[in-house]
Amino acid sequence: MEKIIIVGAGFSGATVARLLAESGRDVTVLDKRETIGGNAYDYVDKNGILVQPYGPHIFHTNEKVVFDFLSKFTEWEKYEHRVLARIRRDKFVPVPFNLTSLFELFPSKAEGIKKILVDEIGYGKKVPILQLKKHENPEIRNFADFVYKNIFYIYTMKQWGFKPEQLGEEVMNRVPVYLSEEDRYFTDEYQYMPKKGFADMIANILRHPRIKLKLKTDVKKEISLCDGQIYYGGKPFDGLLIYTGCVDELFDYKYGVLPYRSLKFKFKTLPIKSFQPAAVVNYTTSHKYTRISEFSKFTCEPKDSTVIVKEYPVKFKKGKNIPYYPIPVQKNRAHYEKYEQEAKGYKKLYLLGRLANYKYINMDIAVKNAMKLYEEITGDDLAE
Ligand code: FAD
Ligand code: UDP
Repeated sequence: MEKIIIVGAGFSGATVARLLAESGRDVTVLDKRETIGGNAYDYVDKNGILVQPYGPHIFHTNEKVVFDFLSKFTEWEKYEHRVLARIRRDKFVPVPFNLTSLFELFPSKAEGIKKILVDEIGYGKKVPILQLKKHENPEIRNFADFVYKNIFYIYTMKQWGFKPEQLGEEVMNRVPVYLSEEDRYFTDEYQYMPKKGFADMIANILRHPRIKLKLKTDVKKEISLCDGQIYYGGKPFDGLLIYTGCVDELFDYKYGVLPYRSLKFKFKTLPIKSFQPAAVVNYTTSHKYTRISEFSKFTCEPKDSTVIVKEYPVKFKKGKNIPYYPIPVQKNRAHYEKYEQEAKGYKKLYLLGRLANYKYINMDIAVKNAMKLYEEITGDDLAE
């Protein structure tokens, strides 16, 4: 049977590895990190708090197939994520911006604004900010401008170095304005956290006799590509290569370094039970960091100490920091497509995941795309 190498032990690599193994194929999963789970890796610290060193990850999906697949590898704990935006030193309002946010900020005018919004758009609607800003009613546009300035503009400039308009819908529609009192960050049908964490769940996915896992292995040192032929350890490799790392790195930056956004995390353990009024507080009008996450507020019981992390978006520097986010603007997409085209010259190379597909996807879509790739490779139909 053909050899299969999977680069990356994150959600994408682990899912496709498991499905291939269950179908009777032997696979080798390689990752340059010491840990599994990619950016979703987590661990329990000495005080019993589940900490996510690559930033706050919350599972949510509308994809039943994804939820069912992952449920085989973890027990879940119900968790509905709520976020506050700190607009002023003493003012925290729900984000996504909702009617509660409106009433907190404009107690005397809110009733009137609500009436216009509900009459013109409809109670319960979720409206992307860029759409609201173009509404024909000037009072709605006025309201939208306030929300844009106080929730989106500064945060987005910090996070991406681009204005909301430059990023467009793929990014901005993730956090619409809610014309209701809905205060959950996500409204997906399935919202849970894996009881023992993401790393434990991914370890269970990877635990299979047909999966060989090798960590601390930088594949770039082993693999090279030339004229349609994959080489592994200097020899032609005729098996399948499923790659979930950065595609520009794979092709030796032939078309230049793709732009990514990186993050600097500053962690602190504090000898107090609670630091802030929500698991995540977004700093939407001030400070260099975008948000502070407090891990003990995610799922575990309150402890005597708490762990917080501040997220500072920074430029990505090849070899120096981690490429956390592809930057989804048109010119970068066109840049990526050169690599995508190049990859098509290698019949047995499959690009998968947030980095290799250069797509701003969540964990559930990483799993879904891995399922689709499995179907493409094997011809099997997972729905059967
Ligand atoms: P990754 O997790 O990036 O895994 C890729 C793996 O490939 C890594 O382990 C890497 O070490 C390995 N690799 C790369 N190059 C090589 C090489 N040359 N050799 C060997 N190994 C290599 N999603 C949600 O659903 N909910 C959230 O709340 C959420 N929050 C997020 C917060 C932050 C700060 C970030 C950055 C992302 C968040 N995400 C969230 C997105 C989520 O992290 C991704 O969708 C998911 O982890 C993608 O999985 P992946 O396997 O494609 O990529
Ligand atoms: N966003 C914002 N203000 C907020 C929350 C989000 O401007 O208070 C914008 C910002 O551009 C951000 C995007 O919406 O990058 C998506 O937010 P999300 O919370 O989904 O980002 P992630 O958790 O993926 O970093």
